[in-house]
Amino acid sequence: MAATTDADLAQRVLRGIGVSAGSVSGPAVVIGLPPQVPADEPASTDVDADWARISDALGGVAENLEKKAATIGGPAADILSATALMARDPTLGKGIRAGLAAGRGPVNAVHAAVEDVCTMFTAAGGYLAERTTDLRDVASRVIARLLGVPEPSVPELSVPSVLIAHDLAPADTAGLSPVTTLAIGRRPADARTPAHPWPTDPVLYEVSSSHEEGGERAYLASTVAFVGGDGDDAGHVRQLRLAVTEYLPDGRRVPTAGTERDVPADLVLVCLGFTGPETADLCAQLPVTLTDRGLVARDEAFATSVPGVFVAGDAGRGQSLVVWAIAEGRAAAAAVDAYLTGDTELPVPVTSTTATLRP
Ligand SMILES: Cc1cc2nc3c(=O)[nH]c(=O)nc-3n(C[C@H](O)[C@H](O)[C@H](O)COP(=O)(O)OP(=O)(O)OC[C@H]3O[C@@H](n4cnc5c(N)ncnc54)[C@H](O)[C@@H]3O)c2cc1C
Repeated sequence: MAATTDADLAQRVLRGIGVSAGSVSGPAVVIGLPPQVPADEPASTDVDADWARISDALGGVAENLEKKAATIGGPAADILSATALMARDPTLGKGIRAGLAAGRGPVNAVHAAVEDVCTMFTAAGGYLAERTTDLRDVASRVIARLLGVPEPSVPELSVPSVLIAHDLAPADTAGLSPVTTLAIGRRPADARTPAHPWPTDPVLYEVSSSHEEGGERAYLASTVAFVGGDGDDAGHVRQLRLAVTEYLPDGRRVPTAGTERDVPADLVLVCLGFTGPETADLCAQLPVTLTDRGLVARDEAFATSVPGVFVAGDAGRGQSLVVWAIAEGRAAAAAVDAYLTGDTELPVPVTSTTATLRP
């Protein structure tokens, strides 16, 4: 096969369904198609010998899945262990032997027995119907062994890569690095709590379609450092150093000393909401008082603790909306007018304490 040049790659457009969120770049790794079931396979002439080969292949596939399960741990390990159990299922073995005895070749006997079980699982529906993908994956791996070709699986990846596959079985995806979403705060409640009574907009644990695609969501995770690589890898983020978030009595969130741990990271997307105005430079030059939340403190008429200095919008109210910033800006202008002239005819649409429904 001729070497693929950058120019070739630049012209090749592959279409398919993306299975993970976002856009990434990396070397393309193409996963082979499952082995074909030969239509002209000779019938078994020695059922015991063929069964021994198939039994070895089933055992080898189960063993590999169990080894992988032991390495990765967590919920993905359960998927792999369950798939290994299917490879060791005596009912499946019985069906394969029956196929051999009925004159099928080894590959066709495996294929037919697995399809019979898949038909049963599909009819049963629910959890069992969902397991047909795992079962067909076991069949592909066993058939590859019988044919002496490589199993259709994800190879060891040394760098983050883009996988291109006809289909990826759970056993393939189980070992892949998941997207990890870190949140500095606590996990939101599943249902409205007394802290967010009706008709306020409650903060709830939400599961979007992106979350359903997989990945991990870690809470109380404070990022304290980006850890880079060494040598040629220098300058590239390779790990995030996290600590468990501690809530201080005044509501501030700080990393808990001594709880640091590193998690692998190749790509970090920073999605921070409003965490208060940046006040370091401001306070150095203008010693305004701040609130417990780190906002610029103000009275009813938007005046800060420094005479002649007013604050409106997010810096005083906290994260809000453009309409509030505009209304506060107009009201603050009236307050400034009154401060300078002793009176004002300007409109005051809101005060600094007019509340929104959201707490
Ligand atoms: C990602 C995102 C999406 C949003 N989407 C919406 C939306 O769809 N609808 C909606 O209504 N609201 C939305 N908001 C909220 C809205 O943007 C804010 O509520 C609004 O912009 C607040 O206006 P503001 O004038 O108080 O502050 P800002 O708009 O933040 O203006 C403050 C200005 O002060 C400047 N500044 C800071 N420090 C200094 C300094 N030392 N010297 C000089 N200048 C300084 C800043 O550069 C900035 O231009 C969104 C906010 C974010 C972050």
